[in-house]
Amino acid sequence: MAQNSAKLVFWGVRGSTPTLERDMWRYGGNTPCVEVTAPGGAHFILDCGTGLRMLGNHLTALNNRWSRWQGDTGIEAHILVTHYHWDHIQGIPFFHPFFEAQNRFHFYSFQSKHLGRNSLRQVFDAQLASPYFPVDVGAMAASRFFREVGGGEKWETEGTQITTAWLNHPQGCLGYRLDTSAGSVVYATDNEPGAPDCDAAIRQLAQGADVLIYDAQYSPEQLASTRKGWGHSCWLEGVKIARECKAKSLVLFHHDPDSTSRTVDGFLSAARQEFPGTWAAMEGMSITLNDQGAEYALPESRMGQRRRVRLAATVYGCNENGGTFEEKTILRDLGLQGAYLFLSNKPRLQSEVRVVVDAAEGENGNGAVSLRATVTHCERSHEKSQNGVGVFFIEDAAPEPPRD
Ligand SMILES: [Zn+2]
Ligand SMILES: [Zn+2]
Repeated sequence: MAQNSAKLVFWGVRGSTPTLERDMWRYGGNTPCVEVTAPGGAHFILDCGTGLRMLGNHLTALNNRWSRWQGDTGIEAHILVTHYHWDHIQGIPFFHPFFEAQNRFHFYSFQSKHLGRNSLRQVFDAQLASPYFPVDVGAMAASRFFREVGGGEKWETEGTQITTAWLNHPQGCLGYRLDTSAGSVVYATDNEPGAPDCDAAIRQLAQGADVLIYDAQYSPEQLASTRKGWGHSCWLEGVKIARECKAKSLVLFHHDPDSTSRTVDGFLSAARQEFPGTWAAMEGMSITLNDQGAEYALPESRMGQRRRVRLAATVYGCNENGGTFEEKTILRDLGLQGAYLFLSNKPRLQSEVRVVVDAAEGENGNGAVSLRATVTHCERSHEKSQNGVGVFFIEDAAPEPPRD
């Protein structure tokens, strides 16, 4: 990583409860956990949802690699917890680095009215208590330090400025802003608009942010009717805040457990019409912040078996500047989930394209196959003066279950 750059990785993006259904896979099913690595190397973890388990395995693997060169100095991280609802703490018992003595963790959250002093420590004790978990909290050998903070606080940790704000959510919730020398990130999830104090606080927190991660659990219609009072928000509110605060980009986060990937696609495209710098948080998505701005990368989409092919195809899509294009190409790499192809156009990441593949030679009939896909990768190709483009096929609506 270049000297002055910060990196964010999304390990869990789903709200409320983990999801495993196939038509939710594309955005991911783990509950909130975002990793931020500051320019000096300081590690921050935002929330401890079920995505935390994968982050733990990743940090352990990195540490093992480092240890070979410089001895095991352990893992150190600052863990900022927004609140104590299950979806934000459920990964704690499954984060292996907590069970290794050489590691050190600094926790920050607020004193809950219901738990009193040392709220976060009590959450640990309760989660790893009999009969809910097989080992007790004594097995957590890592050093743990707890600090209780409130809204409107500011402090510095290893060169990163941290600011907090109260959000409007049942039993309370904190939003965090991290200002690093490479850019700023605001993490404001689990917030319902409409409480004047919190509405003002979140706007102050999000002022000029490079990345604003915001609760977009519901549709604007749900938020105005059946889900009013549930403590969450929608893409439209995110767009309003991003615009008012001149945030550079907006990341829709905390997807509803009942939202399919197609539902999230819909929220994203509606939001992009109003605020073009919008993204939808996806498990494995990363953002690199540096002097040039923010660079987004999506997870590898060409998993599973792939075949080298040569199929004539036409791609219809949207350019980075918002214009549409139609371009003929040859599909060279095809899997069940996605494909790789070259285009002179530069399609926008997370935008939808249609890939129309001509019928294979020698087949009778004129069966062109039309595939809907979303763009997951786009890079300048070295050999050709073209862009290498990765696309992930979009699932059609789930088939109706069979009836008796
Ligand atoms: Zn939540
Ligand atoms: Zn919550």
